Amino acid sequence: MPGKTYDAAVVGMGVAGLTAAVTIAEAGLSVALIDRATAPEAGGNTRYTEAFLRMKSVDEVSDDFEERFHGAMGYNVDPAIAGELLYGASRRTAVSKTLNIVDPAVISAWAAAAGPTLKWLQTQGVAFSEASPPFITVSTTRLAPVGGGAALVEALTAKALQHAIDIHYETQAVDLVLDEDGRVAGLRCRSAGRATTIVADQVVLACGGFEGNPEMLSRYVDRANFARPIARGGYYNRGEGIEMALRAGATTSGDFNLFHAEPIDPRSGVAEPALFIFPYGILVNADGKRFTDEAPGRVDATYEAITRRVLEQPGGQAWIILDAGVEDVPNHKLGIRTDQPAIVAQTLEQLAGLLQVPKAALLATVDEFNASCPDPAGFSPLTLDGLRTSDLEVPKSNWSRQIGTGPFKAYPIACANVFTFGGLKVNECGSVIDTGGSVIPGLYAAGEIVGTYFGTYVGSTSVLKGAILGRLSGSDIVAAKR
Ligand SMILES: Cc1cc2nc3c(=O)[nH]c(=O)nc-3n(C[C@H](O)[C@H](O)[C@H](O)COP(=O)(O)OP(=O)(O)OC[C@H]3O[C@@H](n4cnc5c(N)ncnc54)[C@H](O)[C@@H]3O)c2cc1C
Repeated sequence: MPGKTYDAAVVGMGVAGLTAAVTIAEAGLSVALIDRATAPEAGGNTRYTEAFLRMKSVDEVSDDFEERFHGAMGYNVDPAIAGELLYGASRRTAVSKTLNIVDPAVISAWAAAAGPTLKWLQTQGVAFSEASPPFITVSTTRLAPVGGGAALVEALTAKALQHAIDIHYETQAVDLVLDEDGRVAGLRCRSAGRATTIVADQVVLACGGFEGNPEMLSRYVDRANFARPIARGGYYNRGEGIEMALRAGATTSGDFNLFHAEPIDPRSGVAEPALFIFPYGILVNADGKRFTDEAPGRVDATYEAITRRVLEQPGGQAWIILDAGVEDVPNHKLGIRTDQPAIVAQTLEQLAGLLQVPKAALLATVDEFNASCPDPAGFSPLTLDGLRTSDLEVPKSNWSRQIGTGPFKAYPIACANVFTFGGLKVNECGSVIDTGGSVIPGLYAAGEIVGTYFGTYVGSTSVLKGAILGRLSGSDIVAAKR
């Protein structure tokens, strides 16, 4: 065992781990920061995101922040058990403390901490501006750090170095060290194939979900093999943090069988080659058939559900079919983030040949769709125009106009895994809760690793959650030390 005992060891150099580490170090405590990546690659998913934040201003979360979390808090919850959550911690039983739902008290704590967290990030050299997300229609307010997630990683890494944090790159955390009372006392790691131990009074696990671990994905997630991580940062997140905490007795939160799904062009190797243009055309599978309502609502609120339907199709892929009418959609290129060109043809017959989709099936699908489209006079691409198909088994609810004017364009579309939903359950301070409803002494979790989402992602909250939980856990460690 090495001689040095750190006040805290933090695993992960994304927004969550860096925020926790700098918060602890700026109070004068000693910190070891561990990441499996090299210095230029460290930063996980945070390095590759534009980092949209569900905020109204630097001070306040969006108006719908808490409401959206409450709307996706879990399923078929026993009201008698959930009712205990209204009474505060002292009157809760172990069953309600460990219930697999989003705890409303924790969400309120995050909402209250969001503004102060962004203000603190400003003091660390991060600037924020109104976001320009790649959505042609939007349903909420968003800010973003200038320079995206990479700017967060760079600014906070510089602060970590200023505070003389010991950074251990190319080091994997593989297990927790527990003392004889079950208190967390450090980490077992591996570096260059050799085992090492880091002794620390407190440990913060901020090492992401398991989107980079095919073995765990195949255990929990149906058809996960068709959904690659959306950017290279995700490959570093292999779920060890979740597994080591479970071995130490942690309880869970979030849907282990789901992940945040985003539609991408599978041909592209750039980070997040997203395609959000499908509401203005149709989606067909390899059999040439439509399979989902392409426009049930504003695209930022509905793309995840549609992408899950893409994943269910043969080979986990489909095609977006557009005609020349897409040019009527102002700024439509905003919704096309791939670096790969559209596949273009003058006729639908030629397009079917290029896509290797059965020609007769594609033409029949388009004919049936066209016959069900309403009068296009009310087409209004930037609002929900209610131009809905009639008498189709698979309807389209908005922006339904005939596909008939060439040139026709197509993009292949597949489902990417942005991050996994299942993870650890924490209290308002970020302490990990065990299966008996108590906190595990010395153990905190922050960021993606904290399982939060059920059924659907509450958009633009993952980076925010990472920063908030980094601050909350770091501040709690500082307060405990004092
Ligand atoms: C392209 C893209 C776009 C996105 N867009 C948005 C958005 O607009 N808004 C939003 O809120 N969210 C968005 N997300 C999601 C968001 O970026 C992440 O969920 C969030 O940044 C995760 O932060 P984190 O600190 O928890 O984990 P990460 O940033 O993933 O960092 C985890 C770190 O832990 C390290 N690590 C993992 N396992 C170990 C181990 N065993 N030992 C040592 N180190 C380990 C990794 O190397 C990595 O550096 C997006 C993600 C991507 C990839």
